[in-house]
Amino acid sequence: MTGRDDQIDVLIAGGGFAGLTLAIVLRQGLGPTFSVTVADPTLGAGHADDERASAIVAAARRLFEALGVWQSVAEEAQPILDMVVTDSRLGDAVRPAFLTFPGEVEPGEPFAHMVENRFLIAALEKKAREIGVGLRATAVENFSRLSFPQAHAHRLDVAFAAGNAVSPRLLIAADGARSLIRERAGIAVHGWDYSQSAIVTNVSHERDHDGRAEEHFLPAGPFAILPLKGRRSSIVWTEATPEAKRVVALDDAAFHEELEARFKLQLGEITAVGARRVHPLGFFVARAFIAERIALVGDAAHVIHPIAGQGLNMGLKDVAALTEVIVDAARLGLDPGTANVLERYQRWRRFDTMTMGIATDALNRLFSNRSAVLRAARDLGLGMVDRVPGLKRLFIREAAGLVGEVPKLLRGKSL
Ligand SMILES: Cc1cc2nc3c(=O)[nH]c(=O)nc-3n(C[C@H](O)[C@H](O)[C@H](O)COP(=O)(O)OP(=O)(O)OC[C@H]3O[C@@H](n4cnc5c(N)ncnc54)[C@H](O)[C@@H]3O)c2cc1C
Repeated sequence: MTGRDDQIDVLIAGGGFAGLTLAIVLRQGLGPTFSVTVADPTLGAGHADDERASAIVAAARRLFEALGVWQSVAEEAQPILDMVVTDSRLGDAVRPAFLTFPGEVEPGEPFAHMVENRFLIAALEKKAREIGVGLRATAVENFSRLSFPQAHAHRLDVAFAAGNAVSPRLLIAADGARSLIRERAGIAVHGWDYSQSAIVTNVSHERDHDGRAEEHFLPAGPFAILPLKGRRSSIVWTEATPEAKRVVALDDAAFHEELEARFKLQLGEITAVGARRVHPLGFFVARAFIAERIALVGDAAHVIHPIAGQGLNMGLKDVAALTEVIVDAARLGLDPGTANVLERYQRWRRFDTMTMGIATDALNRLFSNRSAVLRAARDLGLGMVDRVPGLKRLFIREAAGLVGEVPKLLRGKSL
């Protein structure tokens, strides 16, 4: 390939949560002599029309705080102060709470915050720019191994859609669920579609939500009401895919009627605000998280059901684990793109990913159905969790990403 304008240590394809966070932690961990570039056609675009929001669990918030990013979004972040789970049918007039969680993992530390994605992406992009991460507003289009005699450099040759090219020692695929790099590297995914889609929209309401999150397990799937700053909430509403498509295409009055039947009127009158989006849901895990001089992170490596709001957190665990192995190698003067380094990352992350993926899959199957027997069983289970304080505390810490082999960065420690 010709026209290459520089050699860099790491090129990250994808400037979503996973890609930008990885760039920042690598740069902060290894300093300016280690060059990191992020390429994404949406960089600098501002995402002003994207109203989606995410639950940022405590482990992720600790990481963003340690990076100096959280401080920029703290004002926009709504702590989840308590959480109610119900198991009900659409027509039920009353929804008894089977499970309630006080929202703290430690005194004064909420187990999660709701933040609109565009604020967090803007804060990450700003931090990346400040600390000298190279940012290129273009897509990665192709890559190949450098051919002899350049091969002595142990690099890939990566071409951008904008026409130029770079040669990194390591290429990170952080390019989301439909990862082009994963596909070009010949890595298959295994998993399945749920034939379910999530309708995502925001609503405003007359009364304060008081920081309460609600998850109603309806027969078609979970209907989650997640508090945003002000008298607003983010809705993640799961339906069978054809029904989801029908619902988002309704006119405003009919959509409002469907929404109100699920939201109910405990917060007063509601108004749907902003766009309605549909996300098809599936469970997919890449057969390998690495290839020659390539590593996959975030949704490029795995996509899970949003039932437990853990997708982004899993991506951040990849980031933290990959950073730890790259930093260890680079500090010893080793090439971070070699098979030994990448295999350590894969061993660390694939097992945890499968465990979380299977757990969220089981949760979805248990709740998204109309079986009376399963309903009785799950209500018994939820009732038990609700009454056993130790178990409940474990559940909260697990949901907050603080259980298991948590990488140093997600414990708020530096490398
Ligand atoms: C309905 C729904 C609700 C969710 N709610 C939550 C939640 O509450 N909490 C949570 O933790 N998770 C949640 N998730 C999951 C979470 O949104 C994802 O796991 C997370 O956004 C993945 O981040 P990522 O950086 O890996 O990928 P993405 O956010 O998909 O970013 C990929 C980036 O790569 C770029 N790109 C694509 N192709 C190329 C290319 N060839 N070259 C360069 N760049 C490229 C794209 O422009 C994009 O910016 C939810 C998911 C859904 C569907």
